[in-house]
Amino acid sequence: MLSTNMTTDPAADLPFYYGSISRSDAEEYLKLAGMADGLFLLRQCLRSLGGYVLSVVWNVEFHHYSVEKQLIGTYCIAGGKSHCGPAELCEFYSKDPDGLVCTLRKPCLRSPDVPIKAGVFDNLRENMLREYVRQAWNLEGEAMEQAVISQAPQLEKLIATTAHEKMTWYHGKIPRQEGERRLYSGAQPDGKFLIRDREESGTFALSLMYGKTAYHYQILHDKSGKYSMPEGTKFDTVWQLVEYLKMKPDGLVTVLREPCVNNTTKRNAPRCVNFRNVPCSTKVKPFLTVPLGGSKEVTASPPTERQMLPMDCNEFANPYHDPNDLKKFFINRDQLMIDEVELGSGNFGCVKKGVFKTQKGHTDVAIKVLKSENEKLVKEEMMREAEIMHQLSNPYIVRMLGLCEAESLMLVMEMAAAGPLNKFLSTKKDTVTMENIVGLMHQVSMGMKYLEEKNFVHRDLAARNVLLVNQQFAKISDFGLSKALGADDSYYKARTAGKWPLKWYAPECMNFHKFSSKSDVWSFGITMWEAFSYGGKPYKKMKGPEVISFIANGNRMECPPGCPDRMYALMKDCWTYKHEDRPGFVKVEERMRAFHYSISNKTLPEGTADIAEPLK
Ligand code: ADP
Ligand code: MG
Repeated sequence: MLSTNMTTDPAADLPFYYGSISRSDAEEYLKLAGMADGLFLLRQCLRSLGGYVLSVVWNVEFHHYSVEKQLIGTYCIAGGKSHCGPAELCEFYSKDPDGLVCTLRKPCLRSPDVPIKAGVFDNLRENMLREYVRQAWNLEGEAMEQAVISQAPQLEKLIATTAHEKMTWYHGKIPRQEGERRLYSGAQPDGKFLIRDREESGTFALSLMYGKTAYHYQILHDKSGKYSMPEGTKFDTVWQLVEYLKMKPDGLVTVLREPCVNNTTKRNAPRCVNFRNVPCSTKVKPFLTVPLGGSKEVTASPPTERQMLPMDCNEFANPYHDPNDLKKFFINRDQLMIDEVELGSGNFGCVKKGVFKTQKGHTDVAIKVLKSENEKLVKEEMMREAEIMHQLSNPYIVRMLGLCEAESLMLVMEMAAAGPLNKFLSTKKDTVTMENIVGLMHQVSMGMKYLEEKNFVHRDLAARNVLLVNQQFAKISDFGLSKALGADDSYYKARTAGKWPLKWYAPECMNFHKFSSKSDVWSFGITMWEAFSYGGKPYKKMKGPEVISFIANGNRMECPPGCPDRMYALMKDCWTYKHEDRPGFVKVEERMRAFHYSISNKTLPEGTADIAEPLK
């Protein structure tokens, strides 16, 4: 499930934060608390995405200051300094009035029986994310949820700049007369509306039906990038403005009701097929070329470049088969073309590049090919690996497309063209930022959370087995050692020790041959360490047995240079000696997510600097 806005609201932990209460409610709470000078509380601002209002008492009067969330993710009171969060802002004003009537002296504390009030836009904001993912990438269900969770910060930025383009009521650049023609065609209920680009001006107009007459309004776009009706309430996005105008007329002849649907837009465009096989590119052109009425093709948004998102790749959703459909487990040899290119090799044989042909088209695949002289035992191992993979379907886990028995036994998988994470990072130190690594490791934690939920243990989680589709998209692979746990089992017990990756293994694996999701968590910690040290080798030159005593003596690897404290703290928690005390993947993912969101909100979205001037 997606976290609610309350958990991502950076003010949610503040004891003087009330959520979306009205001005008069705020004044009521302040009165109840005694009206002392400098008494204050914080509440949500309805008008701006992520903004607040600070309500302060001075001289038995109320003062309300709106706190804007700026595009770069900082917060400020108009004319004041910027702060990285609402807590920091309030702390600042508790020491320095800096233009306010007084310093903030006494928080008006929310009593335990008063919950933080959810806002009208709290749900909207989440729904916006889902709706956007649904429309832009044609994703549904679990794939949509995973996209929203892993990319929420990036999606919010995209939505702030381009979301309206995906809405049924958006008609692109059409003349006023054409807008009228579309409103008058079909039924003409009051409140039927559309939004269009005004010709030549770069601003929007609202065309609205009332009493069988079309009305046209210009939507103002001010210097700070806010949208509003003339003299009306200002919003960060056209979408929010539209949602608001559905509730309040704000100067219009009527509230907005039914959208006049733009039938000329191919809204459910396929996910960007053209971006396949661009493993290392970090920027792509948006895919919003929308044919509008008539024959003219125009680009719906200025061709700003944006970062490639996992959902842009075919490997995100599962187009191949229903995981319950056992019939398609085997692939015909004539559906496969095998390249000479080797992607990697091991004892079993090698992994080759190939193409999988279906009615839907050709897909690049990776094919694990057994050495033909291999005996029965190895064949059985590969069958077991295939059986495990067949039961899994998650964007952050390499999917198996099927097994092929021909000149040799072959396991056909989705292609992760940018290869193993450790190699990628060690060769691309200069182009991969820490934020990038956090995003990738968050995806790995999501894949592992899924495995834990399905009761599988991986047993070989390591940076070498995290493969990249591209720089922004990671998948867990190599299920050669993995086990499905029985419904009542919490661990797998290995009868004998094998060729084990000791440096990645938790103490209970070595000591008692016990493998569980908790021991995968230990390996996740080592994988994080590898990632944040850009593909460094864990425990340097130490040998496996030396590592065992190093750990037993209470030692742990040091923080990689430049690795954020919160990430190192998480690694160390993954390396909790007793598995009972170690966090599980639900907790690990939650912490990865919180950190990922917190740093992604502080980077400037691209293409937001050029804001159009309003016309008179
Ligand atoms: P092993 O059990 O020998 O470690 P892996 O499944 O990890 O086998 O595969 C070995 C190598 O083959 C990987 O390190 C990677 O370079 C390449 N490889 C495996 N699967 C894929 C894939 N789906 N896409 C791209 N390369 C792959
Ligand atoms: Mg491997």
